[in-house]
Amino acid sequence: MPGPRQPFPALRHAALLLALVLVVPAVATAFEAVLVPVLGPGLEGGGPACERPDPASVGSVQAMLAAPPGGWTGRPVAVVVSNVLVGEVRIGHGGVTACGSQWDFRRVDSRFRAGVGAVLTPEAGSTAPIEVGFPATLTPWLPPVVRHGDPATVQRGDTGRFVLRIATTAVIMAMALSALLSFLGLREPVFLAYGLNVLVLALWLSMLSGLWGYPRPWLQLGPLAASLPVALPLVLFGGTSRLVLRQGGLHRSLPALDEGLRRLVWLLLAAALVVLALPGAWLPFASVLVEGVFMALCLLLAGCLAVAIVRGRPRAAYALMTLLPFLAIGIAQALAPEPVRAWKVELLMLASAWFVLSSSLVLTVRLLTLRRQRDQLQVLARTDELTGLGNRRAILAELEGEVVRARSDGGPLAVAFIDIDHFKAVNARLGHAGGDRVLVAVARLVRQSLRRSDRIGRLGGEEFLVILPGADPAASVELLRRICRRIRQQAASGEGLRVTASAGVTWLGAGDDDAARLLVRADQAMFDAKRAGRDQVAVRPPPGADSTAPGVCPDTGGPDGGPGTAPGSPPDSRRQRGPTGHAR
Ligand code: GH3
Ligand code: MG
Ligand code: MG
Repeated sequence: MPGPRQPFPALRHAALLLALVLVVPAVATAFEAVLVPVLGPGLEGGGPACERPDPASVGSVQAMLAAPPGGWTGRPVAVVVSNVLVGEVRIGHGGVTACGSQWDFRRVDSRFRAGVGAVLTPEAGSTAPIEVGFPATLTPWLPPVVRHGDPATVQRGDTGRFVLRIATTAVIMAMALSALLSFLGLREPVFLAYGLNVLVLALWLSMLSGLWGYPRPWLQLGPLAASLPVALPLVLFGGTSRLVLRQGGLHRSLPALDEGLRRLVWLLLAAALVVLALPGAWLPFASVLVEGVFMALCLLLAGCLAVAIVRGRPRAAYALMTLLPFLAIGIAQALAPEPVRAWKVELLMLASAWFVLSSSLVLTVRLLTLRRQRDQLQVLARTDELTGLGNRRAILAELEGEVVRARSDGGPLAVAFIDIDHFKAVNARLGHAGGDRVLVAVARLVRQSLRRSDRIGRLGGEEFLVILPGADPAASVELLRRICRRIRQQAASGEGLRVTASAGVTWLGAGDDDAARLLVRADQAMFDAKRAGRDQVAVRPPPGADSTAPGVCPDTGGPDGGPGTAPGSPPDSRRQRGPTGHAR
């Protein structure tokens, strides 16, 4: 159906073009302003020297890497320190000190990418330890890790960690963008909430992994740099827990828990603000609390989901699957704290990527299921339950569409009313259930007599509407006569009864603005057939049509000896039209 004409389409196109002309340079400038400084050259001269060359001076924490028995061999030794989220790391031996911070990788030895590292060459035979200094950690659940050894081995390990961090970040960012694009396309708010949540998660992980200082700081946080890694998880917990609950379908069976989590979202957001305002000395304490809240929420959700699975809810299994890696990390940390601690950032990033991927899948599947259910409901709303044909609403909508189509392509369009004769008597004889069987049989017979492009629907009771696009008057009358004959012969033969139907046919004329006039004429024609004795076809041509006058068109006589031939009844033109006609 042609839509309403847009006013001033040329103006709209010109405005779009102008917008493009303005937007493209703006995007290019933004690209140059943001990305070039981030990816561009590093500090001149390889970065500044350490402010205070003594590793012991930077903070309270020091690691002493003891020389091997017999002293250092004189070969180079690589040292890399990761998980120092805030402050400078210094690595020194024999008066040589290297320093750097995870917040700005321009100041870090470029051979290391996942932590602050240096390669030192202690004198052969020296027994003095390599000294490593860094500030006390603000996140006790993610303690700094110092590794040292043969430079190639240490560097390969460091690069491996970096690759894992980059790969998981790419997956998480891709999922965030995909969710935001899905929101733009589908306007489902859940995609917006999910996409924003995943973006915050990506931001938090980039702080833990140091990726936001790589290759140089791309987000200046000033004093918030210390407290944000502790506060951001609080922003994530509430919304994510509700998402998991919904994915498991528990928000309906446990409304109190859903309501509790809804309140928790606000409580945690307030807590995040408090954390941002906390003095540095309180942050380690707050960060332990945050990890406690995380594990408690994980266990609570996992427990509820496990109970739901036992009670036979398959959706809960999908939701639990998204959480499993986090639970596994918790259990592994309790059983073997050391290896988990050494790989905690990577494990958290892998678990997060899994969570984001699998929950995005669960979300999409859930949405598809809802859409499928909605489609099924739409089909049900347009289908007549008894006969399986389109119901009144559906067939009238089809008629409107066919009238518009016939008007635009100029082809013929015929419409017919079919009404079973004396159906009350049929009901009286066979009972209501028997009457229903006859209705179903009539519907089937009519449908079998039509082409794929023809339409049929049940208007109500024992009345059917047939739409015949492309059928000329003679062909449509002949088809309806054949349908009446089939009904007479087959509709209730199994019931030991002779059931007949009357049909009224009309077709689209020049004066028919809409479907209503067609319907009225077809109805009148059907009553003409009733008046003329039933079990026949009557026509009502459109006013002014160059055609036969209104009249009844009794059957030309079938094998069962139906009514006789009416003088001047139209020839069987459909049968002559060949394979596209209705001849059966
Ligand atoms: P006529 O030849 O003039 O059309 O007479 P008729 O008895 O067929 O027409 P009328 O409209 O007086 O009666 C239609 C009957 O169809 C009345 C109603 O009980 C019956 N009917 C309507 N819907 C259904 C249905 O879904 N199932 C059955 N079994 N009967 C129905
Ligand atoms: Mg009726
Ligand atoms: Mg009837």
